[in-house]
Amino acid sequence: MDYTIDNEYLNGLMQQVMAKNPNEPEFFQAVHEFLTSVKAALPTHPELIEKQVLERIVEPERQIMFRVAWIDDNGRMQINRGYRIQFNSAIGPYKGGLRLHPSVNLSILKFLGFEQIFKNSLTGLPMGGAKGGSDFDPKGKSDNEVMSFCQSFMRELYRHIGPDCDVPAGDIGTGAREIGYMFGQYKKIVNEFSGILTGKKLTFGGSLARTEATGYGLCYMMEVLLAKKMNTTFAGKTVVISGSGNVAIYACEKATQLGGKVVALSDSNGYIYDADGIKLDIVKDIKEVRRARISEYVKAVPSAKYTADSNGSKGIWTIPCDIALPCATQNELNLDSAKKLVANGVKVVGEGANMPTTPDAIAYLQDQKIFFTPGKASNAGGVATSGLEMCQNSARLSWTFEEVDAKLKDIMVNIFNTIDATAAEVGCENNYVVGANIAGLLKVSDAMIAQGCI
Ligand code: NDP
Repeated sequence: MDYTIDNEYLNGLMQQVMAKNPNEPEFFQAVHEFLTSVKAALPTHPELIEKQVLERIVEPERQIMFRVAWIDDNGRMQINRGYRIQFNSAIGPYKGGLRLHPSVNLSILKFLGFEQIFKNSLTGLPMGGAKGGSDFDPKGKSDNEVMSFCQSFMRELYRHIGPDCDVPAGDIGTGAREIGYMFGQYKKIVNEFSGILTGKKLTFGGSLARTEATGYGLCYMMEVLLAKKMNTTFAGKTVVISGSGNVAIYACEKATQLGGKVVALSDSNGYIYDADGIKLDIVKDIKEVRRARISEYVKAVPSAKYTADSNGSKGIWTIPCDIALPCATQNELNLDSAKKLVANGVKVVGEGANMPTTPDAIAYLQDQKIFFTPGKASNAGGVATSGLEMCQNSARLSWTFEEVDAKLKDIMVNIFNTIDATAAEVGCENNYVVGANIAGLLKVSDAMIAQGCI
């Protein structure tokens, strides 16, 4: 990939980032997108260069890496690597998920932590940016093994986090089960019941609507975009969603409630197509109860079709749709896929996952005048609701589902209006990548400058 930027200062900074962080392609990709977007703000915000905000913001405040040793069911010790990247705390305590997946490495967590800074800023809540996790793979492990890993992971992480310092959450591979085991271990070590993690079960401080928040929030943003930009709604639209995890399932639920017809979902082995519309109760049973593969769907719905796809499920993007919602993982929608989507009449692409669309695919979609919302804006409903969980924990109370859902919807509408207005202000109308990066940055930049040499 070519990381050149047509601005001498920004290009120099990009080269420095690459020299200082060798072999971190996902991190370069995220920084490159950000610096390229920020170019449009430089004429009206000279402080970004004068106060060296950009040079500071690309450097994490702290990176923690540690050994996680745990015992498997055969009594053997297993060794994984744990991470926490505390990227920026200018506007609030560090906040961001913990990813458990064999692909996890420093580059992936730095890209996620970096994007989290701007996402959290866009929510309007006081949260800094962070990310963490491990190359541990929960798939195929027993509950005991997952617990053993989570407890060992927390035995190191606890010393680096705290309710006013850093509040981790879930992400790929980290759901309510893993958060529960980690919370229990933190409480035991510190002897303190505090809102140290979000995404908890309702019985010990979790928030109603947190499980649904990222997928619902994505659809709330799509709803406002459809209304404001295309004078239409979800009703009658065909929707394709990749993934079948937390984000995908609840995007599917809300898109369906809003009148859309979701016809496809996937996992890393393949995708299902159901022309009559996905039956979500069946998917929830497969994924949330049985933790099985999406291929099981066709056993319950024989009229649906399963296609095995060794290519990370990219075949899902050949299915015609009006709205495409990539909700699985980074770089899952490439230029070829974008071309197929456009040829088949897609109108809107909304990212539910983090950085699922490759840079050339984004450029192509924007060139074709397809409305495209980047994950740092359209999946911000998850962390926003985590912020609401922190509020409830601090106040020692619980809001109703309807209260949280209404706040989530407000936040998503506000984010859309902000990125839309910001893009227009800097002369890049409808470019929500530019709008999200600049709007997210300006609040953080103001706080960094006010706090001096940090
Ligand atoms: P889950 O672990 O619940 O689900 C992930 C889904 O994506 C699974 O269906 C998984 O399939 C699929 N997937 C993972 N890796 C790959 C791959 N390499 N190729 C193809 N498919 C893959 O995670 P979430 O739903 O929580 O997260 C999905 C995305 O959304 C991530 O990018 C995450 O960072 C982002 N996100 C999540 C938030 C949340 O609140 N959960 C908040 C904001 C962003 P398989 O089971 O085969 O691995």
